[in-house]
Amino acid sequence: MKKLTLLLITLLIISCKEDKPITTVSKPVPVIPKDVYEFGFNLNNFKVINDTIKSGENFSEILDRNHIDYPKVLEIVNKIRDSFNVRKIKSGIPYTILAKKDSTEKAEIFIYKHSKVRYTVVNFKDSVITAYKGKKPVTAELKTASGVITSNLSEAIESQGFSPYLTYKMADDIYAWTIDFSRLQKGDRFKLIYEQLYINDTVPVGIGEVKSALFEHGGKEFYAFKYVADTILKVPDYFDEKGTNLRRQFLKMPVKFSRISSRYNLRRRIAFYGNKIRPHLGTDFAAPIGTPIMATANGTVIESRRKGGNGNYVKIRHNGTYSTQYLHMSKRAVKVGQVVKQGDVIGYIGMTGNTSGPHVCYRFWKNGVQVDPLHQKLPAAEPMKEAIKPAYFKYIESLKNDLDAISYPKITEEINIPA
Ligand SMILES: [Zn+2]
Repeated sequence: MKKLTLLLITLLIISCKEDKPITTVSKPVPVIPKDVYEFGFNLNNFKVINDTIKSGENFSEILDRNHIDYPKVLEIVNKIRDSFNVRKIKSGIPYTILAKKDSTEKAEIFIYKHSKVRYTVVNFKDSVITAYKGKKPVTAELKTASGVITSNLSEAIESQGFSPYLTYKMADDIYAWTIDFSRLQKGDRFKLIYEQLYINDTVPVGIGEVKSALFEHGGKEFYAFKYVADTILKVPDYFDEKGTNLRRQFLKMPVKFSRISSRYNLRRRIAFYGNKIRPHLGTDFAAPIGTPIMATANGTVIESRRKGGNGNYVKIRHNGTYSTQYLHMSKRAVKVGQVVKQGDVIGYIGMTGNTSGPHVCYRFWKNGVQVDPLHQKLPAAEPMKEAIKPAYFKYIESLKNDLDAISYPKITEEINIPA
């Protein structure tokens, strides 16, 4: 064994091409600790105490336990008052004390760790007492995720060990206005490119940005790319491959080139009915027969049929809050369960049901009640300026390629083998 060690050392020395003579190793070389820097200090110069603030414990008790007398504690507290209020330390928060390495083990530095990343240093090592905030360097590594829906989104994400934050990110942020997550279909699938954050390049501390995503829902592709198109506030938003903001508003009207022939009116009186109040719960858009009618927002078709006064109509559910309905069509172009995107043609202007002329009666449902869409405060979506689009398309080119290159996990179907 010893021979082997010597041989190895010889080899190492030879390989290092050093001219030093080979010396016999007789006693173990003392281990020189590698410098470990954290919070801006070389930890090797201190006795490091890691602990957590206990319930009811205060700053003075902690320092007292670490050999700082009361007058000194008082001096520290007063000096740092403006930058760190020691009365606000909370139980359960981890801290580190850097103490003298000698037999006194006297504390010199107190580090309060607000989070895995943020901390406050109270330095009373020398006569000048200081307190300042610090941040551990966070590095980001791009990661990919993909999944296929078999039951729901969180299951598809968490069963693969991905962070639940990605579920939140997709359902409540990126696609909140684009996809109705309560209507996901089996086989819908998604891909993501996101940042995994680390401190010290190794300790994961959460997810940074989701750079891009693709959700295939009901056979339609919904791309999302994070981009700062807003040159004033510099707030990033998600846009699709055409540069359309995913936080989209409803289209103002379901028909291009039309006019409102009758507004939503709860006190409408109609001569035909003897001037009795017949509330009009829709907004009528008049257009020639056969004019295409568009879905005003993304959603799922929940009704498509002919019924009484409504005639041929289609109803689309957009999310948990909003649905829209389109009446009197000459022809319907969508089926129940079909996913539609904003602007998709869902039918054509007609005169079916109770109507005196060709128009679409557009009904806007909010939480199950018909409201006037012209008086709704709908989420604002800032459209991308034309001038910005060329730079945007250039930016997403490689992102889209990377996204398209991600493969989907294989879903193993449960097969019942007859006994
Ligand atoms: Zn109407």
